[in-house]
Amino acid sequence: MRKILVVGAGQSGLQLALGLQSHGYEVTLMSNRTADEIRSGRVMSTQCMFHTALQHERDLQLNFWESQAPKIEGLGVSVAAPGSWAEGPAARAIDWVGKLDGYAQSVDQRVKMAGWMETFAQRGGQLVIHGAAVSDLDYFSRTYDLVLVSAGKGELVSMFGRDASRSPYGEPQRALAVSYVHGLGPRPEHPDYDAVRCNLVPGVGELFIMPTLTTSGRADILFWEGIPGGPLDVFNGVKDPAEHLSLTLELMERFTPWEYARATKVELTDGGGTLVGRYAPTVRNPVGRLPGGGLVLGVADVVVANDPITGQGSNSASKCAASYLASILERGEKEFDEEWMRGTFDRYWDAAQHVTKWTNAMLAPPPEHILNLIGAAGQLQPAADRFANAFNDPADFENFFYEPGKTAAYLASLS
Ligand SMILES: Cc1cc2nc3c(=O)[nH]c(=O)nc-3n(C[C@H](O)[C@H](O)[C@H](O)COP(=O)(O)OP(=O)(O)OC[C@H]3O[C@@H](n4cnc5c(N)ncnc54)[C@H](O)[C@@H]3O)c2cc1C
Repeated sequence: MRKILVVGAGQSGLQLALGLQSHGYEVTLMSNRTADEIRSGRVMSTQCMFHTALQHERDLQLNFWESQAPKIEGLGVSVAAPGSWAEGPAARAIDWVGKLDGYAQSVDQRVKMAGWMETFAQRGGQLVIHGAAVSDLDYFSRTYDLVLVSAGKGELVSMFGRDASRSPYGEPQRALAVSYVHGLGPRPEHPDYDAVRCNLVPGVGELFIMPTLTTSGRADILFWEGIPGGPLDVFNGVKDPAEHLSLTLELMERFTPWEYARATKVELTDGGGTLVGRYAPTVRNPVGRLPGGGLVLGVADVVVANDPITGQGSNSASKCAASYLASILERGEKEFDEEWMRGTFDRYWDAAQHVTKWTNAMLAPPPEHILNLIGAAGQLQPAADRFANAFNDPADFENFFYEPGKTAAYLASLS
């Protein structure tokens, strides 16, 4: 049976390793941390996944936490009135919620990756705890039929050249600050169901709030994305989790008081429940050439890393793993050569390009027709629902989002 090495045990690596294992491949999975280290470590993401990505997990019977994780049935947008925070707490200019056709869910990656990794080993997979270096891969590329690098945004990306034509930003566009909390109240506008809440503060950044299943049960995530150098870019160097949370709440009180109102009793879920970071969105050449001449194929964030402003990375990792799995199975016993690797990536890029285009658009100040669309969705429920469901299928934004004429025609068709 064909031997495959998967380097990196995140959403894409584990989904691929478990998928290949279920089809009888001899899979080795290399992780730089044990399951226990992941479970007791720091949060890594907010990992809200929509229907299509969740379905890929169901297809492989990996939806172990589906019944426990909160079902996210809506996606809402609120916009602060520009400049309204100058004299006191901001005022809200727009507020709506769209209904998702299929629910979304967030399972703390500490829970999911640790659980999946143990399952992989229990099913007879070879799990190697080792932080792989390029020199290791040189050796392994000669002993395995295929080496997949699914190591996220870590150092191994240096093997894959940046594709400047697909990477318009050379610098991080947001400073990220995450807090996992217990004790958040429901949104009074929809107390009977859960939604992801996207709060846009023009010229300042965004606050995302969503429920999750963490190591201590149900929780909610408060996630600030701040424009670098602006008033939200204040978390660097804050080491104390309690201080991180107070800063998060202070900013909520000023910029999103409608969210602060339900957050006055929150407490951090655990000492690892905060995260700070920033990175430049980058698309890379999918094939890495090792010093000894061997080739490796990059997976998910290694080759397409978008800013989390649109909450797509885990979704894309799941879609990438599903697409690569299909390409590997279809290849049968033939060699995994460079042409196949490029074709495999191109097949994934067919869908991934829409995520990159939309995410990069959301990082820029919105043009007038997008402001009109977001405003109109407050009066036109079908527009709110369509916007929400495009988080599941970002290709749909082509039909109503980028071009002013298409946006106007779409809105006209609803009224
Ligand atoms: C703050 C934040 C919020 C986010 N929110 C969302 C969201 O709401 N929805 C969403 O869909 N996405 C979200 N994302 C993005 C999402 O988390 C990632 O895109 C996704 O996890 C990428 O999956 P991956 O498999 O490519 O890599 P990862 O999940 O990053 O996994 C890579 C793994 O490889 C390991 N590794 C690294 N180097 C090595 C090495 N040398 N050897 C061995 N192992 C190695 C790492 O430890 C890690 O376990 C968010 C990201 C951030 C930072």
